[in-house]
Amino acid sequence: MSATHPVILVVNAGSSSVKVSVYTVPEAAHDNADINPVLSAHGQIESIGVAPRLRASMADGHVVADESFPVAQVADHDAAFRLIRLVLSVGLRDNPPVAIGHRVVHGGSDFAQAVRIDDDVISRLEALIPLAPLHQPHNLTAIRAVRKAAPDLLQVACFDTAFHAGHDMLAQLIALPYEYYERGIRRYGFHGLSYEYIARRLGQVAPDVAAGRVIVAHLGNGASLCAMRDGRSVESTMGLTALDGMPMGTRCGSIDPGAVLWLAQQGMTADAIQTMLYGASGLKGLSGVSSDMRALLASEEPRARLAVDFYAYRAAQEIGKLAVTLGGLDTLVFTAGIGANSPPVRARICAHLTDLFGISLDNAANNDNSQRVSSDASRVPVLVLPTDEEGMIALSTARILRESGKL
Ligand code: AMP
Repeated sequence: MSATHPVILVVNAGSSSVKVSVYTVPEAAHDNADINPVLSAHGQIESIGVAPRLRASMADGHVVADESFPVAQVADHDAAFRLIRLVLSVGLRDNPPVAIGHRVVHGGSDFAQAVRIDDDVISRLEALIPLAPLHQPHNLTAIRAVRKAAPDLLQVACFDTAFHAGHDMLAQLIALPYEYYERGIRRYGFHGLSYEYIARRLGQVAPDVAAGRVIVAHLGNGASLCAMRDGRSVESTMGLTALDGMPMGTRCGSIDPGAVLWLAQQGMTADAIQTMLYGASGLKGLSGVSSDMRALLASEEPRARLAVDFYAYRAAQEIGKLAVTLGGLDTLVFTAGIGANSPPVRARICAHLTDLFGISLDNAANNDNSQRVSSDASRVPVLVLPTDEEGMIALSTARILRESGKL
């Protein structure tokens, strides 16, 4: 790790994991030059409170730590974060971080871009906890832990909602009484850090199509799709919360609100319904086998196959819906764990898109996860671009550092 280049930490605190990435920021050639933070190390703790496992490695793959811990030692996110910092601090001893960028899931209507964190920002983010109950509290825990340990360190919040902030009113409305819209009950959209990265990447690898009508399918544990025009988000399949849209690993996606009413009328509490909709639905709930796409593709269980078929069908349906918003489709991009790595899932989704959009895949390119997986005959090019949400957070944090004269 260079002792001369400023260091930025990127923190991504999920529901059962904390990930910390270390970036160095090489000097830019001039004030307006693009900043290119470089990943130098990464650490993460998974299964916090269940079977905590720490792994940390340098960017070149050299493993610094790989260890399991008793639950009592890493019982919560605070403990996890301290442990990762401790491990990574070995490499940071001569060069402590100048800033920390946090992934924050919900920025509500207050935040249209990354923001420097202060007390006011923290209390606004706390008010949004009910809209992202599984993620927002953990994001805030990491922020508070850093404020306690290093009160003067610059902290930046980077939002999954911000990239969608320019959506037209029609894309934001939910047809409840209008007063609820004014109270913030509107469609925000998520996975914005991933989409912002892909928009930027598309400008680099395919500048000819980046300005067109693009649909990006972010298919990971969470899954959503985004319609972009001119590199900007105009519609998302996720709405008020990260439950909306297509089915995911454990989340249900869009369902008839009458189903939620029915569950409540059967006597389920709001907490029990929340646990089911976020944690026991989607691929996991339908298949009864797993939330993990690889396990489902390998399974012989008919319900595993049914779950994957439904997943592909719903993803394709959402693509049709977004194409209506765009008035057509010029490019389709797949990203995230499933989108970037699973040829059979891409093939099943695209099979639904042949008649309407003239999409056809090149089987060899698709099986290789090539950057372009569509055939020459395909009316719409289909691309595969791995996403990098952490890199996007590092970049946004570096930009704020530069604006405040600290870079
Ligand atoms: P993410 O949330 O982006 O890390 O994505 C996690 C999802 O990607 C899980 O459902 C994994 O099973 C899935 N995934 C990762 N690699 C592959 C692969 N090679 N084939 C199919 N699914 C994959």
